[in-house]
Amino acid sequence: MKIKDLTDYLEEIAPLSYQESYDNAGLIVGDPNKEISSALICLDCVEEVIDEAIAHNIDLIIAHHPIVFKGLKKLNGKDYVERVVIKAIKNDIAIYAIHTNLDHVSVGVSKKICDKLGLVNTRVLAPKDNLLKKLVTFVPQSHKEQVKDSIFAAGAGKIGNYSECSFEVNGQGNFKANEDADPFVGEKNKRHTEDETRVEFIYPATLEKAIINALLKSHPYEEIAYDIYALTISYSEVGAGMIGELEQPMKEADFLKMVKNNMKADVIRHTKLFDKEIRKVAVCGGAGSFLLKQAISSGAHIYISADFKYHEFFDADGKIIIADIGHFESEQFTQDLLLEIIQKKFPNFALRLTVQNTNPIKYLS
Ligand SMILES: [Zn+2]
Repeated sequence: MKIKDLTDYLEEIAPLSYQESYDNAGLIVGDPNKEISSALICLDCVEEVIDEAIAHNIDLIIAHHPIVFKGLKKLNGKDYVERVVIKAIKNDIAIYAIHTNLDHVSVGVSKKICDKLGLVNTRVLAPKDNLLKKLVTFVPQSHKEQVKDSIFAAGAGKIGNYSECSFEVNGQGNFKANEDADPFVGEKNKRHTEDETRVEFIYPATLEKAIINALLKSHPYEEIAYDIYALTISYSEVGAGMIGELEQPMKEADFLKMVKNNMKADVIRHTKLFDKEIRKVAVCGGAGSFLLKQAISSGAHIYISADFKYHEFFDADGKIIIADIGHFESEQFTQDLLLEIIQKKFPNFALRLTVQNTNPIKYLS
């Protein structure tokens, strides 16, 4: 297959438009039309990972963190970023990054942490606004089900655990076809009134092209009337962090031991324990101090994340336990997540998880 076949699929799951403005997810090095036969999955595309790709004849590296984050003005190998890019190009290895877009989907980085910790009833901690739209169209009543089927199949009408959601009301549509028209109903040069249904659908903006295509293909009229509205409400499926619950409450110390074990963390830095039982848990893979307020207001007992600074630990303020498990540790299972996502669609494609531990932080114990 081509690189594009794989990355288009990944971007159906984690659309590039869901990444933060500072991010640089997407195809960083390489030609999207290049044929590939294997990929190497890692968190950080460092030089050792490129060497591993070379040694195993791998065409594409899929990394969580983008190796190029800021603009490159010169390319002469003066730092590790430039050396990685040069080595990748020389060896015809493509580099793709799936970063904050994968953080922000409900099947992404933080969901993997929830699964590792056995959390249930998971939902996005800080859902994003302005990602949903509404389509309103007017269909002759005889063709309403056909149009609805087609638009639902394109992905519209999903709200939480419900699918095929729409609203409709019957009314009359009026039109007069001119000499050059080929009207589906009515006569030329005569105003026609048709019994129509106004149907409304909600959808994620990323699916708009497919949904409008579905409408245009399934609607019987020559000229199809439809409106598109931008919605400002939040999208429960997309945003940073997650919250979930333990099936059985646990003692704080036991829970932290389980986190340390399941997340393979050498060290957990945490705030004062309350000596209560834990049920509700907030998580965020990677640097998550920016979500502390939402974690507190969600009612979570503990917040599992990484990259907290000294003064930020004070912000727990007796309202929550902060547990910093380390950036790499919180995200390392993202590699397995990517493997699972790709294998689901391309079961015969050769995938390899890097054997390099790319964590730049070492612990002296
Ligand atoms: Zn990260």
